[in-house]
Amino acid sequence: MSNNSTNGSTSLKNRLETQAPESTTPERVTATEVTHQDVAVTDRQERIAGFDQSVIDDASILVVGAGGIGGEIAEGLVRKGVGELTICDEDIVDASNLNRQKFHVDDIDANKATSLVQNLADHGTTGTTMVGIPQHFQDAIATGTEFDPDLVICAPDNDAARVAVADQFHGSVPVVFTGLDSEANGGYVFVQSTEAPCFRCYRPGANAGGACPAAPAVVDPTKVVSGIALYAADTVLMDRYREWDAFEFYLSGVLPTTAVEVPQRADCPDCGG
Ligand SMILES: [Zn+2]
Repeated sequence: MSNNSTNGSTSLKNRLETQAPESTTPERVTATEVTHQDVAVTDRQERIAGFDQSVIDDASILVVGAGGIGGEIAEGLVRKGVGELTICDEDIVDASNLNRQKFHVDDIDANKATSLVQNLADHGTTGTTMVGIPQHFQDAIATGTEFDPDLVICAPDNDAARVAVADQFHGSVPVVFTGLDSEANGGYVFVQSTEAPCFRCYRPGANAGGACPAAPAVVDPTKVVSGIALYAADTVLMDRYREWDAFEFYLSGVLPTTAVEVPQRADCPDCGG
């Protein structure tokens, strides 16, 4: 099992706090904290079986990808009250993103990660601390950024990034993977725990696949896959109940929606042998 994690080294939070201010330091943004109501802003979710608000309050989550899925999940995490959120993406907002992603016309030509944390601030409930890293995940790792999250949400638009995230964190930090099919009709969520099976066991064909810039994309499956991923994140962090590793859906019903346990592959380069 490969394990290239930087867990145990100086966390991103500590690094940012000790760095002298400079233009390359990602800006930290604090989301809204709701304190003036006569009922706790988290009251309804705390009634969910197995839900533990103190875990969310203390959690640090890395979201890889600030596009449709990453943005939708990040908004959910901020509303639930996650303590720290780091979002990593080098992409730039363009007009074709606005039908489904958490951006406005004024964000066009700006970086997605830094724009997203700004746009999420008003969705806050418990004062989440947010940082946008304007780099692709692989570049951030290559240039020495150290991530030390409790959970990773992997929501890029290409398999090369998914495999890089899988290899970086397998064995040390759980990862919730997301993906949509090329027709924007179906999608999946896969939970990689710190043990087998890994993402490579689930998608053995995934390797260096690149993004599809002009592929069909609409908000419908984005909302579906993001909701399932948000649920999966809770099941990893606390005692919400889940029986599956992989959840797959097809909006049209042409194939059945499935929720299954994924077998470990004997030929997996990570888990096999
Ligand atoms: Zn594996």
